[in-house]
Formats: sequence, structure tokens, C-alpha cells
Amino acid sequence: MITIIIKISLLLALLVASHSLYALEATFNLNLNTVAVTASAIIVLVLCYMLTVIYKLKRSRYQLMLSEQRLKSTVEGSGDTLWDWNIKTGKVLRINDKYLMDSILSTEFPPNKSLIHPSDITQVEYLLKKHFAQQTPFFEATYRIKDHFGGWLWVLDRGKIIEKDTNLSPLRMTGTVRDISQLKLTEERLNLFAKCVESLTDALAIYDKNFKLVDINPSFLTLFGGVREQYLKKDFNLPGYDKSYINTIKKTVYQRDSLQQEVKLRNSAHVLLPIEISIDEIRNDQNQITNYVVVYSDLTERKKAESQLHNLSNRDRTTNLPNRNLFFTDLQKLGQLNSHHALLVFDLDNFKKINDSLGHQLGDSLLAKLAMRLNKLTRENDVFYRLGGDEFALVMSDTNDIYTITRTAKQFLAAIATPFKMAGHELAITSSVGIVLFPEDGNTPELLLKNADTAMYHAKKKGNSYLFFNDTMNREAVKRLQIENLMRFGLKENHFAVYYQPKMNIHTGKLVGMEALVRFITPKKGIISPGVFIPIAEETGQIIEIGEVVLNKACRDVKEWLDAGLFNGRVAVNLSAKQFSLPDLTTRIDVILQKNALPSYFLELEITEGTVMDDPKDAIAIMCSLSARGIHLAMDDFGTGYSSLAYLKQFPLNTLKVDKAFIDDMKNERGRNMVDSIVTIAHNLDLHVVAEGVEQASQIEILKQLNCETVQGYYYSKPLSKDEFTEFLKLQHSKSVPSLISQIKKVAVTN
Ligand code: C2E
Ligand code: CA
Ligand code: CA
Repeated sequence: MITIIIKISLLLALLVASHSLYALEATFNLNLNTVAVTASAIIVLVLCYMLTVIYKLKRSRYQLMLSEQRLKSTVEGSGDTLWDWNIKTGKVLRINDKYLMDSILSTEFPPNKSLIHPSDITQVEYLLKKHFAQQTPFFEATYRIKDHFGGWLWVLDRGKIIEKDTNLSPLRMTGTVRDISQLKLTEERLNLFAKCVESLTDALAIYDKNFKLVDINPSFLTLFGGVREQYLKKDFNLPGYDKSYINTIKKTVYQRDSLQQEVKLRNSAHVLLPIEISIDEIRNDQNQITNYVVVYSDLTERKKAESQLHNLSNRDRTTNLPNRNLFFTDLQKLGQLNSHHALLVFDLDNFKKINDSLGHQLGDSLLAKLAMRLNKLTRENDVFYRLGGDEFALVMSDTNDIYTITRTAKQFLAAIATPFKMAGHELAITSSVGIVLFPEDGNTPELLLKNADTAMYHAKKKGNSYLFFNDTMNREAVKRLQIENLMRFGLKENHFAVYYQPKMNIHTGKLVGMEALVRFITPKKGIISPGVFIPIAEETGQIIEIGEVVLNKACRDVKEWLDAGLFNGRVAVNLSAKQFSLPDLTTRIDVILQKNALPSYFLELEITEGTVMDDPKDAIAIMCSLSARGIHLAMDDFGTGYSSLAYLKQFPLNTLKVDKAFIDDMKNERGRNMVDSIVTIAHNLDLHVVAEGVEQASQIEILKQLNCETVQGYYYSKPLSKDEFTEFLKLQHSKSVPSLISQIKKVAVTN
């Protein structure tokens, strides 16, 4: 086309030029040669001009084509289909021929109404009308269009009027249409998921990769209360659990990708609920963690249902006690723990008679009453079972302490033997208890029960008693019971005497005080060592009475020696933990001191670490009130228990007694260093040091070097009876003891 134009232009230019030449020649009669040169120049000029114009035209067309192609490929690349609509004719000029246009637009636009989803027609027409009325700068609508297969495609249709007639009526409109079915599908899925999360009954929280909260669902607020904003951006935490626990959880999630854990959390009403938290990590396409999802499931109802179900199969209806089923399960579990437990089994001696004569109903209510009565006697961790019929079992976990076990057995027997008043009858029943320890007496629940039954069978022969399956335990129990009885008798009959062991100044070898030590002198069994009877007296509580006897006798004896001018130091009396925790301890001591007219200055009390470390704060208060009375306080057996130096500083102590075990150990260097350290600590705390159990001269020498000032032990003297000690005092006195009488008098006045 362009070449034709060029050719025609050249011909025209030649025609015009030759015609002009002849005209010029004729008109002005010019020299033809000159004219010919001029004409040729003009022709060349015209030709050059025309060629330039043509080149420019060609170039701009080429660029137009390029930009059109670019636009086309951009639009195609974007997935859009261009349309150009002649509004008057209703014809659509399709610009890029895509599947979508073929399938949906046909030749008309807007598409035939039958192609648009019935629910979308009104909306499309409304939006188009608005644009025609110039109320919107663009037409934009999302609607569904029928595809070839009778299904629906979602499209996003955008357009704008580009041509109007003189009356401003729209003539042409162009735009793009895009298949957004996939997008819509994703949107619908997202909406569905969002709705699911919203309506989830479990609380849910989404955290970012740093465990900072991004969002929560409404159930989260229903469960925990508060408003959304107060949680956003906060770190993941579980109120009531410390940071290290949270860190462990995070670490586990990181290692295992997810975690399920049961925790206790407070709900909006501050009620502690069992809650299962499930944490899952979310990863992106690059497998990097982007979020964590935490679901909080309230287990209250589930637990309730489980417990009801559990109760149904594991509880006895008559007594409401756990049944035989549970007994075996529990015993099996306990057996797997690495600790000692006791099983007590018993049945009722004459229950069959009661059942036969008074009827099963009465028999059942008797069992229920008995169960209630006995259940009250159990410790917190003990479980009382009805094994069936009139057979019961008590499992005492975490103990093989003979005293605790026998005390419970005795209490049970006494409670069973207490008559029941029922339906006008007074029912007296008796029982016998068989006891096994496990794992010692058996490693399966069946064997344990069998052995406990054997023990019960033997106990029945004695009648209304208890018996261990293990004979060593029986001998021990018998011995303990004997001592307990002997002590009861001994307290009545004044069988408790007080012996005194001197405490000597290591440098002068002179008496500085003495320790009062109890002696249990029985007419039949001779002297029973405190090491044997004191622990039993501690358990039974008899130590309180024994302790008072000792304190009273010690005060009385010291007063006598004081009045005789034989002694003017302090007597140290041991105070047991049971005595120490008596609420009226100080009053009891005051009464005894007053009764014996002994000023408190002459008294020292020895307390062990165990006694004060149980509850150090309370101990400090008690010790302060004793110390305020002028009573000295010594820490006995130092180093054998667990003393905290921090507390040691706060206790108003005067003396520290280094336990015999350390003194014995001074044979080697390590032992000597140990005593050295103890003495140094004591002196730093302004405490006086007494070495206990000193038996040899070599020990005296070492202790001297270590700056220990006082010693007590067989090296100087064994504990002496009152008379023997009087002799000892007289001997000491003859060696002239520096007098403290004036000082004593001063204190006595203030008391
Ligand atoms: P303890 O308070 O550590 O008393 C020192 C014990 O060591 C006494 O034993 C004493 O006789 C013994 N002993 C003293 N020097 C030596 C020695 O050189 N070598 C050896 N091998 N032993 C020595 P005892 O009198 O048998 O008392 C034993 C424990 O019984 C006492 O230990 C104390 O804890 C307790 N106890 C004694 N009398 C009473 C008391 O009246 N009340 C209370 N609550 N406990 C007491
Ligand atoms: Ca002592
Ligand atoms: Ca001691």
C-alpha cells in the first residue's frame, strides 16, 4: 500500500515537474537547460519530503502495532479479556479471542440475560444503569455466567463508556472481563473456614512465629473473659504457670511440630478448669513456620462424664466406697512406684449372724455406717475399699512406718467395736486386721491380698487384734506396744530418772555445765536406752509428759546444788520437736521454773536442727520468746540435719553442739577440716561451741587447736545419776570453781 502511494507520488511529482517546465519555457521563453536543472532540483526536494513523511507514517504505525501487541499480551497475561461494545447495535467486538469470551459473551454484551445467573441479573443491570447515568466513573460487577457445560463461572467485569452522541447518550463502551471462579472458590473456602473458627465451641488463638497473639475466636473470650484487644500482640502464656513451663512447651512444639497437654486454667469466673491445650505449627510453602494455632478445650464435662462412668464401674453402691475392681487397679499402679506401702485387710466377725437375723437391708445400712465411720479415720492419701460382702481393705500409700500403720489398725478396731444403734438394736461387731507391706510381702495384688488374708486369719485366732504377715514386723510391733505400755506405766510409777553428763572447759578441765539425760529404769527390764524409747515416745506423744518430768527433775536438782553452793552454771535439757511445737510451751516452762524457784538463767534448752527447720519462721518466734526469758538455746547434733546458714544467723542461739560423728571423724584430715569449719562458722555467729562425745585425749588436743572451748563426753565422764553427780560436783568444788553467785543474784532479782 505504502509502495503504491510512493509510486503514485513519484509519477505525480514527475508529471507536475515536466508540466511546469513546459509552462515556464513557453511563458518566459527561458533557456531550457537552466530550467531543466532547476526542475530536477525541485523534483528531488519534493521526493525527499515525501519520503520523510512516508517514513514517519510507517514508523508511527509500527509503534502503534507494537504497543497494541504489548497491550494485548499484557491483558492476555493478566487473564483479562478485552471487550468493545457497540451499544447501539448491541454487537461486541472482541479484541482478544479467549475461551471466556467464546463461552460466555457470544456476540452480545452485556450477555444475554439467560446467560447470567438469575440471582445476579438485577445487580448487573443496576450497576450498568448507574454508569450510564454517569453516577459511577466505571462499571464494575461480579456475577456468574453460564459456561459451555451448564455450570456457572464467576467473572469480574469492568468497563467504561468511551463514546457518546451529541445527546450524550452512550455509543461505545470498552472494558475487561476476567474469570474469577478460582478466586471465588478460595474466598468461599476462606469464609467457610473463618465461620468454622468463629463458631467453634473450643477457644482458639492464633500466634505468630514468635508466639505473639495475632487473633482469637469468640469462644476464647467466652472462656477466659476480657476483650480481644487486651490479648492481641501479647506473648503466649498460661496464667498460673511459670516461664520455664511455657518455655518447655514452646520447645516441645518446636521439636515435635505439635503438642497436647492438660493444664488447669481459670475461666472468666475465676474457676479453675481442666483444659487441654493443643498447639500446632503452621508452615508456609517454603516450609518456614509462620504461625502457631492453640486450641483450648474445656475438659470439665468430659471429666465429669468419665468420672461418672468410672464411679459406675468402680464404686460400691451400698457404701459408696471404691470397689474390688478399683482396688486391684490401684494396687497394681502403686506396686509400680518405687516406694513402700501398707495394705490392711479385715472382715467382720459376726456379720453373717446379723444379716441372717435382722435382714439384708439392715445389714447393708450397717455396712454403710461402718464405712462412713472408718473412712473418717484414714489419712489424706489412704484409700478405703469394700472388697465385697463384709470384707474391706485400706491401702496406706507411701508408708511402712510401723507406728503409723499400727495406730490406724488400732483405731479401726476400736471404731468397729463401738456398738451401732440401729432399728432399736445395739449392734456390737468385732474384727481382726491382717497387714502386709509392699513390695516386701508380695509383688502382685493377688499375692498381697492372699498374704493379708493369711495374716487376718491368724489375727482372728487372737480375736479383735491386728497382725502383720511379716513376722519381723510383728515382733517389732509387739516390742513397740510393750514399750508404749511400759512408758505409760513408768510415767505413773515414776520410773523416769534424770542423769547428768558434765560439760567441761577444755583448757581448765573445770565443769561449766551439764546435760540432763533421761533414763528409763524399769523394775522388770532394767534400764531402757533413750535411743529405744524416745522415738516411740515421740510417735505416741508420750514424750511431752516425759519431757516435763525430766525438766522438773533437772530444775529441782540444780536448785538443790545451787542452794548447796555446789554449782552455779546451766543445766541443758533436751527439748523434743513435739514439745517445741506445743502452743503453751513457754507457760509450761515458766510454771516448772517457778515451782522449783529456779531462775531461768540456769536453764539451757537443746533443740535439734530438724525441730527448727520444719518451720523456721515459727521456730524463730518461739526461740525468741524463750531467749527473752534468759533461757539459753543450743543447737544439738549440729551438722546431722539440714541447717540453712541463712536461718542459723536469725536463730537466737547461744551454743552450737558439734555432733559426735564429726568428732569421731577427726582421725583424718578431712574430718579435722570439717570441725575446723564448724567452729569457725559458730564463732563468726558469736556462738559458743560444745564438742559432743569426746572419748580420747587426742581429740581434746585437736579440739584445743581448733579453738573449741567446751567438751562433753566419756573422756571426762559418762552421764551420772543425781547422787553420782553430787559427788562429782563436790570433787569439782574442792578444786575451787570461780564463783558466779553475784551474777546469778542479779538475774534472779529481774526474774
Ligand atoms: P544427745 O542429746 O545427743 O545426747 C548425747 C548422747 O550421747 C547421750 O546418749 C549420751 O549418753 C551420749 N554420749 C555422751 N558422751 C558420749 C561419748 O563420749 N561416747 C558415746 N558413745 N556416747 C556419748 P543417751 O543418753 O543415750 O541419749 C540419746 C539421745 O536421746 C540423746 O542424744 C537425745 O537425743 C535423746 N534424749 C536423751 N534424754 C532426753 C530427754 O530428756 N528428752 C529428750 N527429748 N530427748 C532425750
Ligand atoms: Ca542433747
Ligand atoms: Ca547431741
